[in-house]
Amino acid sequence: MKKDRVKIPTDLSNAVLYKAAKTCCVCRIPRAPVEIHHIDQDPSNNVESNLIAVCRNCHDEAHTKRALSQNLTPSRLLDFKEKWEREVSTRAAQAMLPSGNLSQAIWTYVNHQRLPDVMAALGVKFEPDILTSLVARGTTDPHGIPIFQKPPKSSFLTTIYDRFEWDESRRLHALYTRAVDDVILAAHPLELGAIWTKSEIKSLVEPGSLCFCMRGFRFQRGEEISGEEDRVVYAKAKNIEIRLIANTRHMYGSSALYDSFSGNRFAAILMLVKDVTTDGPNLVIRATPLAMGAGFVHFAYHTPYSLRYGWAKGTDKSATKRAGKVATTQF
Ligand SMILES: [Zn+2]
Repeated sequence: MKKDRVKIPTDLSNAVLYKAAKTCCVCRIPRAPVEIHHIDQDPSNNVESNLIAVCRNCHDEAHTKRALSQNLTPSRLLDFKEKWEREVSTRAAQAMLPSGNLSQAIWTYVNHQRLPDVMAALGVKFEPDILTSLVARGTTDPHGIPIFQKPPKSSFLTTIYDRFEWDESRRLHALYTRAVDDVILAAHPLELGAIWTKSEIKSLVEPGSLCFCMRGFRFQRGEEISGEEDRVVYAKAKNIEIRLIANTRHMYGSSALYDSFSGNRFAAILMLVKDVTTDGPNLVIRATPLAMGAGFVHFAYHTPYSLRYGWAKGTDKSATKRAGKVATTQF
């Protein structure tokens, strides 16, 4: 018996399209518009495992009943869906790492307070050799948490790294930047740049979501209290806002404090979402920054989502220019 078509709920179609990077799972041809096909040909069976993103041509092919043709059977379609979604997710995560971008890309803010909790929830461990050496010197406890030491007296901003010898602070930073990469590879954060519409954000982003976003942000300096300040980090496009607060104590190096995360800057941010709310016409994502990176650029950002971008292009030019400058002045 032929079943009636039931409209696919928006949340579900958004999820299916996001996982396939809005690209046909069968032919993977870039930019070909995609539709959603019911793998078992039952148009009322709206469960995610039965839905696949395909282009018009492949969709036609899936409905073809030619004898002896190599047509797209449900089991072949399922195989295409699983393989492509896995590839999208893995390639997207790898592109978020500094090592996947330009050589000067680096995490120069890592949230020492929150990252260990997120790691524990994901079962991600600190690199054991570096951790052992830090514990032996009394820099961190066995869980990798820096052991509190009195901040140095200074009329400038100071960070956690200023509390240790130079080489020890480098090791601490290495421990945490590796952990950020491992969290990304374990969790496959949502690429906010790829889902920059209200409907998609409402469907896909929720409290506790790990998100990655590379774009221009505004870093507003706050009041300095005991050598530290809370910096308000803000981005807005198309009635969508991102709001974060980043304490300067987690920043690494004076260029992070006074340049990379001050004023209007292009940055990569890994964030843990607190909530998604409405403020007048705007959808507001409030989140805690887990890591912020400098030296990232879009032109070196090769993700399955790149082709679907658009929202961050305005900020990319200046970043590209800056990267070019850096590239020509470094040897
Ligand atoms: Zn196709």
